[in-house]
Amino acid sequence: MRELAVPCYVIEHPRGRMLWDGGLPSALASTPGRQGDGGGGAVRLNQTLAQQLAALNLDLGAFDVVAFSHMHFDHVGIANELGGGTLLIQRAEHDAAFADGAAAPGFDRKLYDGLRAAPAQILDGDHDLFGDGRVRIIAAPGHTPGHQVLFVRLAETGPIVLSGDLYHFAVSPQLRRVPPFNVDAVRPSRACGAWRACWRKRRRRCGSSTSLRSSSS
Ligand SMILES: [Zn+2]
Repeated sequence: MRELAVPCYVIEHPRGRMLWDGGLPSALASTPGRQGDGGGGAVRLNQTLAQQLAALNLDLGAFDVVAFSHMHFDHVGIANELGGGTLLIQRAEHDAAFADGAAAPGFDRKLYDGLRAAPAQILDGDHDLFGDGRVRIIAAPGHTPGHQVLFVRLAETGPIVLSGDLYHFAVSPQLRRVPPFNVDAVRPSRACGAWRACWRKRRRRCGSSTSLRSSSS
């Protein structure tokens, strides 16, 4: 059995606070132990995201900006509980999630339908959130129509990429393996290849390295 985490990230920037990814639906925490996810796997949630945020003296209304790597159930679990914040979403993901008659694999509209009324900024590619290059959404379609990842330049550790479900395991890019339910099997490899070339250049230039962090299914 392989275990995967479904991390959520709070990004603090002098010009705003961001939530990146929303984890599993909070209702799962009311039942102890693992529960079937309907796709052959099992999930467990010990603490809701709201409870975890409370430990940081935050709540689900504390964000200026909210973005999900993609709209699968294990990344938008708290979407209907958000109390404000501008949603940043790729146009292709927005269309797949909300357009009449749309039905993308793994999307469950009732989990995020509350976002319809939320202020949103529809993206057509990469986006520099605060204008200083430190927090950038990068379009990385393939797992879903508008999958995206987050580049963050940290003061202490340097640049990292929070890669959502671009790949699930460290070995996946080398093997060029993606889940069978990806909407496109080729585009993640292209995106990852481009970033690795970019990181090699960066390392040569300033001696820093970039790590790729992935999350769940
Ligand atoms: Zn996914």
